[in-house]
Amino acid sequence: MQYRTYLLLGAPGSGKGTQGKILGNIPRFFHLSMGDVFRALDTRTVIGQKFVDYSSRGQLVPDEITMELLRAHIGHLVGIHAFKPDIDALVLDGVPRNERQAEIMRDMIDVHRVFHLSCPDREQLVNRIRKRALKENRFDDANEETIRRRLVTYEEESKPLLDFYGPERVRSINALAAPISVVKEIVDAICEVK
Ligand code: ADP
Repeated sequence: MQYRTYLLLGAPGSGKGTQGKILGNIPRFFHLSMGDVFRALDTRTVIGQKFVDYSSRGQLVPDEITMELLRAHIGHLVGIHAFKPDIDALVLDGVPRNERQAEIMRDMIDVHRVFHLSCPDREQLVNRIRKRALKENRFDDANEETIRRRLVTYEEESKPLLDFYGPERVRSINALAAPISVVKEIVDAICEVK
C-alpha cells in the first residue's frame, strides 16, 4: 500500500518544520520530520553517532541508514495506530532528500503534491538559521561553515527533486511570506486536489 503523501521541500531555514507542525495538527494529516526522527535518537547508539557525525558536517546521513530508520519508524507509528494510513495523509518534511531516496520510497509513497518553500535570498535563510540556533540548541545550526555547507547540500542533492516530481505536482511558495499565508497556500492547494 502506498501512503497518500504531501512533501515539504526547501532549503534549511525555509520553514518546512513550522509548516509541517501546523499541517500535522489538522485531523487526518500526519506530520513526520526526518530531522526530528534523527534528533530523537540516543546519541550513544551507532546510528545516533552517525547522525551526529554527518549532520555536524552539514552532510546528509547515508541513504541506506536513513531509509531503514524511516521504514522502521513508520512501521512503528502504524503499529501503535498513531499514523493511520487508511485515513491519514502523510506530510513528509526532510525526506526524501535526494533522488536515490525518492527512488527507494517510490513503492511507499504516492506523492500528491510537493510544496517547494522557495527562498532565493540565501542570506535571509542564514539569518533565520542563526536565530534558530539560539532557541533550539541545534549543533548543526551553530557555525557559519556548517550552515553554508547545508545550503550547498540542498542545492546539489535536494533541489533536483523538483524535476524528479515534475511541474504538475510541484507548487512553489515564497518561503519569506508570513507563515499564515504559506499555510493558506498549502491548504488551498490540498483542498483543490483532494
Ligand atoms: P534542515 O532542513 O534545517 O537542515 P533537518 O532537521 O531537516 O534540518 O535535518 C537536519 C540534519 O539531519 C540534516 O542536515 C541531515 O544531516 C540529517 N537528515 C535529515 N533528513 C535526512 C534525510 N532524508 N537523509 C539524510 N540525512 C537527513
